Parts: sequence; structure tokens; C-alpha cells
Amino acid sequence: MTLTGRSIIGDLPAKDAKQSGTHRDAPFSAINPATGQVLDPEYLSASAEDVERATSAAEQAFPVYSQCSGTEKAFFLRAIAQGLEAIRDSLVERANLETALPVPRLQGEVTRTANQLRLFAEVVEEGSWVMARIDRALPSRTPAPRPDLRSMLRPLGPVVVFGASNFPLAFSVAGGDTASALAAGNPVIVKAHPAHPGTSELAGQVIASCVRAAGLPSGVFSLLFDNGTTIGTALVNHPRVKAVGFTGSLAGGRALMDIAATRPDPIPCYAEMSSTNPVFILSGALRERRGQIATDLYASITLGAGQFCTKPGLVFLPHDEADGMLDQLQHFAEQSSPFTMLTQGIAAQFSRTVAERKNSGRAQYRSTSDNANIGSPFTTHATLLTTDAASLENNPRLNEEVFGPSALLVSCKDREQTLRAAESLQGHLTATILGTAKDFDRNRDLVAILERKVGRLIFNGYPTGVEVSHAMVHGGPYPATSDGRSTSVGSQAIFRFARPVCYQNFPEHALPQELRNSNPRGIFRMVDGNMTRESLPE
Ligand code: NAP
Repeated sequence: MTLTGRSIIGDLPAKDAKQSGTHRDAPFSAINPATGQVLDPEYLSASAEDVERATSAAEQAFPVYSQCSGTEKAFFLRAIAQGLEAIRDSLVERANLETALPVPRLQGEVTRTANQLRLFAEVVEEGSWVMARIDRALPSRTPAPRPDLRSMLRPLGPVVVFGASNFPLAFSVAGGDTASALAAGNPVIVKAHPAHPGTSELAGQVIASCVRAAGLPSGVFSLLFDNGTTIGTALVNHPRVKAVGFTGSLAGGRALMDIAATRPDPIPCYAEMSSTNPVFILSGALRERRGQIATDLYASITLGAGQFCTKPGLVFLPHDEADGMLDQLQHFAEQSSPFTMLTQGIAAQFSRTVAERKNSGRAQYRSTSDNANIGSPFTTHATLLTTDAASLENNPRLNEEVFGPSALLVSCKDREQTLRAAESLQGHLTATILGTAKDFDRNRDLVAILERKVGRLIFNGYPTGVEVSHAMVHGGPYPATSDGRSTSVGSQAIFRFARPVCYQNFPEHALPQELRNSNPRGIFRMVDGNMTRESLPE
């Protein structure tokens, strides 16, 4: 596949600036973070007219695509998975150049992206995800008869997806947001992340060719490039767009949430933004296996150069153990080579945030050397900080996410202080408890607090590594996400892009297949309050 440096808008070639006559940001190129080399081709930012064309094509595609059967959508999603695997080598090679993420990690990401699409294919093929409910008519009920009521989930309309910088495949163009929105029956317009445009274009070409091969309307998928906020803002503001999926910074996600909420017709914006993933190390576990915990914790903090939304960034531990643990972690940090970050912006923000914390005097600083003198604008050292629970309570900004290889160790003088620290946490994606069975039993109140703060609780494990499955929850109260009732990973992610519609007293033949008496899809349905796959008498 050849990279063109142009957006993909249905069947239409993106027009150049002169033709479209609208404002367009300057062209941009990807940069190899490992070498600083500028990568061809140059990418042309989309124009306002491109936004019109993409949203119009998506709007036209919606009535057709939303009526596709689960089998048709499953065929389409599997074709995308197969198409990505067919160009695995090109995807990995280009993503490696654009992100400097290691090849084995990117190989795994292609597999994960393809399997994610296949998971959604299974879900829509099986069909019960639509949560069909049937309350049969009760004509002789008194004092008023009950009508026949049947409801199920239906898609929303065109969905805009923002690709993430830290997963060039699994959370980008063909990633989880796109897969779940397509599975639910929505056309998708992706705003590519400017840090990996080539990887984005390759994945976009695969999806566009699968749209053609499946005979679907071309507006089912578009991909727009921009190195700035103009196009993303215009898309989220556009009346034809009905929902948003985003993974990135709190500032970016919050800006898009606010745009979505203040439109004349507000729309849902599912933003996954900022999480520090607290870890609570309990005293029994420290006594039993401090060395092992230090090894595993350091590996989790620095996995992917700490550029994971699930990186453990806040570690609570008993006061008398804090120094020992910090010494062990620092020993690992001193042996680590510097880390190459995804973008110059992310590296600069990491160094700035760490320096602010150091200079504030509210956290003590341990590092192998100063990030300011490291020599490459893409590179940083692992950085460890320590503070106590009282200082954390007085300085809530220390709770904020630091995206990169760093963690803040918080010493707690007693159990009361640990519980107070847990109570003052904001929303996170995960919380982890490292303990013995006895520790766990003694700290059920801690678990009860954490349950209110996060989407996933982990016992004796580490938060990095997110399984894509039916039970996974990758969500959490604000500011981890914009809507703590949702998940952006796993099959439940499909529910973000669908809404319930009820059909009252509809004739059998006019009902969607899922709601007909004969249950031709053989799905699980709630009939008069009971789950069943049985058909109903005509
Ligand atoms: P970002 O700045 O939030 O950008 C993500 C995407 O959203 C980009 O396409 C960006 O466009 C767009 N965008 C951002 N603000 C916008 C706005 N106000 N209006 C319209 N579009 C907007 O994230 P990033 O570039 O990936 O990394 C920056 C920081 O985000 C990191 O240092 C880290 O703190 C955080 N981050 C967090 C996670 C996580 O999973 N929690 C993941 C990645 C990044 P442009 O880039 O073209 O402006």
C-alpha cells in the first residue's frame, strides 16, 4: 500500500487547499522519535469542506448501515481484522518508525487490534447484545390494559473517534472505539493522531477497502488528518455527528466534552483521559515479598516508558517501609537506560511536570540524572518521587497523572491515614491491592472505598495489561473518563454507541427481527421479566 498523505473521505479524494478554497492548517510530517528524522510523506490537513463531505457521506450511509444484520457486520469486521493482519509487516514497520515502540510490542498490538474486531464480530453475530425486552400486552389488566411493549438497542448515527498517541493501532484508526461503534451499526469518522499519520493511513486504507468489498455505502468510514484542534473541534460541533470516542489528555478530553455538551443538541462524548491508578501495598505483603514487589512494580511503572493509561503512578505504603521500597526502586531506575517517548510534546510535558513537583518542595525527588540535560528532546529518565499522606491531602495536584516513567510513593503512618488517603482519591481507571489473604480480610473497608473510585480493582497483580474480553471494565469516574458508567475496552464498549428504542403495539412484520415472536435470531431476550431464548406463540 502506498502512503498518499491525504485524508480518506468515502470514495472522494480529499481536495487540495486551492480547490476547496477553505482554511487549512500547514502540512505536517511524522517524526521518528528514535532518530529525530522527518518521515515522508507530508500530510495535508483536512479542510472545513472535508468535514462537510465526511459528515454528509456518514449521514447518508447511516440508514443503510444501521439496518445491516449482525451477520453482515460480523463479516465486515472480520474482513478488517484479516486486512490488518495481511499488512502486518508494513503496519509494524511504519508504526515502529513513527512511535519508536518496540517491534514485539507492535506485533502484539496488531494481533490485539484484529482480535478486538473479531470479538465484536462474535458479539453482533450472536446478537443478544441488543438487550431485547418484550412486555406482552395485557388487554384485560385493570384498571388499565397494558400495551405490547418491545425495546432493543439501536445505533446512534455518525461517531467521531480520536486516535490515541500511545496505542497507534489498538486505540487508533481501527482500534476499540472504531470497532465498537461500527459493531453497533454506526458510521465512523476518525480524526487521526498527528504523531502516527502513516500508520493511521495504512489502517484507514484497509477499512475503506473492506467497506468497498462488502458493498457498503462509502460514508461508513472516513479518516481525516489534522495537526491541530480545528478539525476535531469542527467534527464534534457538527450537527450530523451523534457521539464521540476519545483517548488522550484531560485537557483535550475535557475540551471535547464541553463542546459536545454545549452544542444546541448535546451529544455523548466518551473520553478516556487521566488516571494515576493507585496501588496500596499492605504490610503483610511487604514483609513476605518486598523484593518481588519492587521488581514487578518497577516493571509496571516503566512498561511502555510509562505511557500507559493504566500505569501505577501513586503507591501507598506503610511509613516504616517507604524508604526501603524507594531505595529498591531507585536501584532499578539507576540501571535503566533513558526512555524514548512517543512525541517531543509528551517528553517535554513529562520533564516539566516532574520538575514542578520537585521545585514545589511537596514531594522529594529521586532520579538517575536531570531530564533537562539528557540530550534528546524525545528522551527522559525514570523519575521517582516520595511524599507523605498528609502532604498529598494538602496538595491535590500531586494526584494528577504524570504520563511517563515515574511514580509517587506515599507513606502512610497508620491504617486511618491510608483510609483517609483512599477516601480523598479522585476517579481512576484502576486501584490495586498488594496483600496477603489476612491483609485483604483486615482491609475490606479499603476495598469498599476503592470500589467507589475506580472501574477495575486488582488484587495481587499490576494494572498495566488490559485484557480485551467480555467482563473487562476500562473506565472509571471523572477524571479517568467522562462517563464512569462505561468502558472503552471489552465487548461492553459497544453500549456507548447505542440507545434503547421501544416499539409499542407494533405489528409483528414491522418489528425488527430481534423483537419478533418467532425470535428468528435465537437471541436471549427478557420476556415479561424472564430471560429466555424461546420463541413466543404467534
Ligand atoms: P492529546 O493532546 O489529548 O491529543 C489527543 C488527540 O485529541 C489529538 O488528535 C489532538 O489533536 C486532539 N485534541 C486534543 N485537544 C483537542 C481540542 N481541544 N480540540 C480538538 N482536538 C483536540 O493527547 P496526546 O497528544 O496523545 O498526548 C498529550 C498528553 O495526553 C500526554 O502527555 C498525556 O498526559 C495524555 N495522554 C493520556 C493518555 C491516557 O490514556 N490517559 C493517552 C495518551 C495521552 P492534535 O494533536 O492534532 O492537536
